[in-house]
Amino acid sequence: MYKRILLKLSGESLMGSKQYGIDEVRLAEYAQQIKEVAEMGVQIGIVIGGGNIFRGLSGAGKGFDRVKGDQMGMLATTINALALSSALTSIGQKARVLTAVNMFPIGEQYSKWKAIEVMEQGEIAILAGGTGCPYFTTDTGSALRGIEIEADVMLKGTRVDGIYTADPEKDPTATKFDKITYDEIYHKGLKVMDLTATTLCRDNKLPIIVFNMDKNGNLLKVMKGEGIGTLVYEG
Ligand code: UDP
Repeated sequence: MYKRILLKLSGESLMGSKQYGIDEVRLAEYAQQIKEVAEMGVQIGIVIGGGNIFRGLSGAGKGFDRVKGDQMGMLATTINALALSSALTSIGQKARVLTAVNMFPIGEQYSKWKAIEVMEQGEIAILAGGTGCPYFTTDTGSALRGIEIEADVMLKGTRVDGIYTADPEKDPTATKFDKITYDEIYHKGLKVMDLTATTLCRDNKLPIIVFNMDKNGNLLKVMKGEGIGTLVYEG
């Protein structure tokens, strides 16, 4: 079983059935799933996206300066991190927000050692603000943090069951991979994460499991090795 995990949640999935922002029902479901796994004694770091609120690239399309747009996106991830920490705390699961750049007292400033200290105390470390740098994504932020905190695996919670030959929401003939190597992702041109994130994981041998976090109980199944999702490995 994994001792320490880095869970990546996309901001978009926090929208649930809404068009924008945070769906409190979805948020509560995520918090419950996370608590179940924390109670098994697994150390959990979480990186959360911000796409439900703001994305730098779409801002740039509307005339925003890209760097400022990305900073707005990083603030959006922090809003989601605060919402998740609040949802966890309300069900009795301690959690702390660590931010990539100093925003005290909204969160404490992230360092590898701070994050490990928090996790070793049985609290969830919610790592907000992505990498802290523009032109990156939270997928890359989560790959980076996963490596830094020496996680055994990066779990990418999505709304599909894993990695498919094509987008299963668009192509009904698409089939799912149970496992796939990093190199196959490049060669088949699969859009799992951006290449920066995939390359960081590959170069530092951080396995990834892509799975459907929107089905309650799935996070626990992944932890129990029940063959949920798609494993990305070195081969
Ligand atoms: N962002 C950034 N640097 C990072 C992480 C995120 O500039 O290290 C910005 C970027 O503008 C991005 C936004 O934050 O569009 C939200 O993150 P992302 O799109 O990865 O969120 P998700 O798709 O997971 O909801």
